[in-house]
Amino acid sequence: MLIDDLPTPVLLIEEHRLENNLARMAARASENGVSLRPHVKTHKSVSLARRQMAHGAAGITVAKPGEAEAFVQAGIDDVRIAYPLVSTHRLEAVAAMMRSARVSFCVDSTEAAYAASQFFASNDLKAGVLMEVDTGYGRSGFRDNESASIRAAAEIARLPGLRLEGLLTHAGHSYHGPRKGETLAEALGRVSNEERDRMIAFACTLREAGVKGATPGNLELSIGSTPSMAAFNNVEKNGFTITEIRPGNYLFHDAMQVALGVAGIADCALTVLATVVSRHRDRSGKERLFIDAGKKVLTTDVGYGTPGHGLILFNSATMETLPHVQITGLSEEHGWVQVSGGSTLKIGDRVRVVPNHACVTMHTQDQAYIVDGDRVVEKIAIDARGRSD
Ligand code: PLP
Repeated sequence: MLIDDLPTPVLLIEEHRLENNLARMAARASENGVSLRPHVKTHKSVSLARRQMAHGAAGITVAKPGEAEAFVQAGIDDVRIAYPLVSTHRLEAVAAMMRSARVSFCVDSTEAAYAASQFFASNDLKAGVLMEVDTGYGRSGFRDNESASIRAAAEIARLPGLRLEGLLTHAGHSYHGPRKGETLAEALGRVSNEERDRMIAFACTLREAGVKGATPGNLELSIGSTPSMAAFNNVEKNGFTITEIRPGNYLFHDAMQVALGVAGIADCALTVLATVVSRHRDRSGKERLFIDAGKKVLTTDVGYGTPGHGLILFNSATMETLPHVQITGLSEEHGWVQVSGGSTLKIGDRVRVVPNHACVTMHTQDQAYIVDGDRVVEKIAIDARGRSD
């Protein structure tokens, strides 16, 4: 089958770019002596998780128990839920999965830790947890430099229904781009070093405070975002090192990663194939094209430095972008493409678009196609689509 045979809009994954991205992150993990536990919320596909395992991933990371179930049912049996679990239905889902898989999750409050401990202890279970730590992003997680966090760690480590397996952080501020006067590379280095150093420093603090189990070799130190991993170099302090990385986006990359200097456009494995459905001049005389990929495929996500809502390719083999065009707007089913100076595209032409944010784009469809140039290699299911429970 050729990609010309597929109805648009459709998600295409270029196999050699995918495989290169997988191999590159696997090499980065092994150079740094850490295990790779990719965050599969990026693709939600069992088939792609299997490719990650084939490249040496130690297990997978997910955001929610419902998402985890899709992978556990498919036989992937080592899952970290990088999310604070508070509701009974989520704890029940973890308990059920613990029958056939190694499952751990995050706690970021003592209330949730006590409730989880009570739940698992009353079911004669002990669940593995990681204490989520905020190393600068400002989302969930205990503050790494507060005495309340040390007291919380000591309490969590003693709870009967939980086993404190480690500390976990996500440097989501790696997406914020450079500060004034900083280069892209300096910004990535700053966030990456901060993520690493603050985690190791907090582990040292917990050990000095005598927190049960807070010793090197016993405590997993789990970090990771795709941008911060681009600049990651492990270090050792008082026996502690980073032990695990959890990048997600890296297998595809996207226009956000290109703008941040994390990847080149030729690394972007995921594209949306769309058709030009309309071509008009607006009232000021400017030419506009409309493609059949709107916000329900390309999503409305924009990030640091992204020009418009995705990059339209002129040539998907060389990954050159089409000059003088920009997706300036999105309706639900229309992408609004502005063309300065007139378009070479006609109604019915097909274009490939590198989306701004691959992780959300994947979640808009039930399936995607692995391709090799014009040839379709495999249709894959996006198995955990919609599983945010
Ligand atoms: N870990 C957690 C907790 C996350 O929230 C995310 C992304 O949102 C990741 C890891 C992976 O980050 P990225 O998609 O930048 O690779």
